Amino acid sequence: MQTHRHEVIIVGAGGAGLMAALYASRNTDTAVISKLYPTRSHTGAAQGGISAALGNHEEDNPDWHVYDTVKGSDYLADQDAVEILCREAIDVVLELEHMGLPFDRTPDGRIAQRRFGGHTSNFGEKPVRRACHAADRTGHMILQTLYQQCIKNDVNFYDEFHVVDLIMNGDRPAGIVAIELGTGEMHIFQAKSILFATGGWGKVWQISSNAYTLTGDGNAILLRKGLPAQDMEFYQFHPTGIFRLGILITEGVRGEGGVLLNDKGERFMERYAPTIKDLASRDVVSRAIYLEVQEGRGINGKGYVHLDITPETVNHYLQKEGEKRRIDREYIETKLPDILDFCRTYLGVDPVHEPMPVQPTAHYAMGGIPTNAETEILANAAGDIVPGLYAAGECACVSVHGANRLGTNSLNDLVVFGRRGGLRAAEYAKDADWVPLPDDPAGEIRAALEGIRNANGSTRPIELRERMMTIMSRDVGVFRTEEGMSRALEEIRELQETFRTDLTIDDTGHIFNFDLLEAWETGNLLDLAEVTAASALARRESRGAHSREDFPERDDENFLTHTLATVDVNGKISLDYKPVVITKHQPKERVY
Ligand SMILES: Cc1cc2nc3c(=O)[nH]c(=O)nc-3n(C[C@H](O)[C@H](O)[C@H](O)COP(=O)(O)OP(=O)(O)OC[C@H]3O[C@@H](n4cnc5c(N)ncnc54)[C@H](O)[C@@H]3O)c2cc1C
Repeated sequence: MQTHRHEVIIVGAGGAGLMAALYASRNTDTAVISKLYPTRSHTGAAQGGISAALGNHEEDNPDWHVYDTVKGSDYLADQDAVEILCREAIDVVLELEHMGLPFDRTPDGRIAQRRFGGHTSNFGEKPVRRACHAADRTGHMILQTLYQQCIKNDVNFYDEFHVVDLIMNGDRPAGIVAIELGTGEMHIFQAKSILFATGGWGKVWQISSNAYTLTGDGNAILLRKGLPAQDMEFYQFHPTGIFRLGILITEGVRGEGGVLLNDKGERFMERYAPTIKDLASRDVVSRAIYLEVQEGRGINGKGYVHLDITPETVNHYLQKEGEKRRIDREYIETKLPDILDFCRTYLGVDPVHEPMPVQPTAHYAMGGIPTNAETEILANAAGDIVPGLYAAGECACVSVHGANRLGTNSLNDLVVFGRRGGLRAAEYAKDADWVPLPDDPAGEIRAALEGIRNANGSTRPIELRERMMTIMSRDVGVFRTEEGMSRALEEIRELQETFRTDLTIDDTGHIFNFDLLEAWETGNLLDLAEVTAASALARRESRGAHSREDFPERDDENFLTHTLATVDVNGKISLDYKPVVITKHQPKERVY
């Protein structure tokens, strides 16, 4: 077993991990450990844009961005953190530009911006162009740009190393344990500061926009160390996934003028959100699609609606709304090339001629590892931190997204809090002493993995995953009830029991043993599913993405709070609550 030492270790090489690494590596010895080759991280799949109130096309300012983010969050976001997000977004987008990121341009050479759901000018008056983009490949460009900068800065990369445990010495983090995929060898990494940037866990649900690798490893590892998970009940369903496949069709399509239509050809969002219609926030649009389908207005009575970006339809509505702008096929080809490609390849549908079949798809975790605005991980509701431990990006919950995230507000979250995390982790490492490694630091996880490798039960991990995805989509999806969530919780616990007592895998070898690691990831997904269902069951109100048929109203008196879930050594979940930080915007009814 090899042991390595770096002052700062970043787990994850997506946008958050790379931005953190870039900053930490400026004055400390920094290493990034990633189970994927860095440029394969999910950030590279991000399409529509990154928001910053640059005002390149029309007046905009960060105060409006703050208001939209807080309103979009259904007032659950911490407003001090949202202020940081919206102000620093401007700075980091310009920084990315200076690093060489090839943004689309306005005719006079500034960064081009487009509309996106929930982003408005003058506190909700009308949609505003705030999403900076590079065609519909914004995340790809961010990831490539940051990776190049990290290489230039001599960041140490351990690619295709799968992190399986955090080493604690008492209550101090001392390092991590990782498996080198190519050899199966276990490595110990000792560090002074450790930052988790492991991304989301959309693979808990059946229809998902998320990559296969998004299994919430960092979150599950920290839960097992007794640390809390915050606001897990808030999981976003993006309204427009390709029917049955879940592949994302960016909200940028609607930002460019695309509309949602039901079987009767009605632009149904006019009924649900009369002011900003198809550009209402995602929770609102997903529920509207679900209701249209439930009431029999899905296309041909099926479980989907149409998303129409054909120039005929778009220009018809632009004209109806008194807008001067018109679009043509060439414009769509330049602004949304990847989307057109996906539909032509996977569906045989050409969006410049015909509408796309879409349904809500599991997309984004608003909850996660609780941190403060310096990305320091919180140990409890009182806000005590674990010195030397950080989290940023989708795995973290600062919380800037509250109960529902606005589109394009994740990419800026990655770079704003990635940068803060990198700086803070490096600063801490400068003065901190090395925490000694305990005896046999990988003993526990080695035993757990050997247990999986040699398990002689009869259930394959994929069977457990499929059952979990069905249960969670049925009972802990867009709409929820007490009965459904209680049933889900019970069934997920049965799956966890099967995982412990009746597992089997086919590959018992060492080289690239994905069978083993996917089994381990399945355990992570099950743990996150359980915590999600338990947190959701206890929240007896509807807010943002958490929509209960039995408690349809938001209840600020009892639930204007963040949930913190912890799991004890016997696997018992306890829930605690902490207040939301409210500065300027008092909770109001959300009207779009
Ligand atoms: C299809 C799609 C389109 C999107 N479009 C947009 C958009 O236009 N605008 C926007 O703002 N947001 C968008 N989002 C959301 C946004 O892209 C993600 O929230 C964000 O990219 C997450 O970045 P991250 O750095 O936190 O993690 P990721 O980019 O997911 O990276 C996670 C990293 O962690 C590593 N990792 C995970 N587990 C382990 C482990 N056990 N050991 C070692 N390494 C590990 C992985 O190798 C990877 O490098 C989109 C998301 C999807 C899925």
